[in-house]
Amino acid sequence: MIIDTHTHVNMEEFDCDLEDILGRAQKKDVSTIFVIGMHGPSNRKAVDLAERYDMLYATVGIHPGYVDEEHDVDTIIPYLKHPKVIAIGECGLDFYWKDDNKELQKNVFQRHIELAIAYDMPLVIHTRSSFQEAYDMLLPYKGKVKGVFHCFSSDVVDAKKAIDLGFMVGIDGPITFKNNTELKEIVEKIDLSHLLVETDSPYLAPVPYRGKRNEPSNTYYVVEKIAEIKKMDHHDVARITSENAKRLFQL
Ligand SMILES: [Zn+2]
Repeated sequence: MIIDTHTHVNMEEFDCDLEDILGRAQKKDVSTIFVIGMHGPSNRKAVDLAERYDMLYATVGIHPGYVDEEHDVDTIIPYLKHPKVIAIGECGLDFYWKDDNKELQKNVFQRHIELAIAYDMPLVIHTRSSFQEAYDMLLPYKGKVKGVFHCFSSDVVDAKKAIDLGFMVGIDGPITFKNNTELKEIVEKIDLSHLLVETDSPYLAPVPYRGKRNEPSNTYYVVEKIAEIKKMDHHDVARITSENAKRLFQL
């Protein structure tokens, strides 16, 4: 069995065929799917879906792309004791998309970190052109914080820093892209016990579906590629990454 630890099947892209998508996922051994909230309505829908379908779990947070007065982090608090809410996020810093509100992004991320510590929950972290800044903010809380740097896009040095901090590294569809040597090096050099597999659906579909709408069944191809790089059996990669997810998110 495989756990897709990062999807946005709560987006309207999936409204018309979600049941088909969940069926296709199960046919490709994807038995459990995390639905990641990004802002108020997205969090609400993630929790609604997790209540409706056994195989879905939700996370709640304010994505760095939605940090403004409209999206208050504390609106996630009522969800944090919900039995199917397993993490805080998606949160973090994105200086690639926007770098004129760095302080605001940092304040909002800081509040997520505080809530994660207060509620003893893992963080689902998004960084883009901002790994070092996010790392610096988490370092003072080493030993008290845990989680995943999702859709990892930095290098092997940063991956080791993330792990040393007590975090896991999320591997997505780009591992199947031809020229992604940096990500391949990470998969090669980092022990499988620190890796999670994810799709980030609807984004970043792996080969052979690159450019199409991504969906959780495609986690299968991420697992397959990791098995090829690590010269391991596909089933072992599926089993070990699922165990990692269960351990981190206390499923
Ligand atoms: Zn995401």
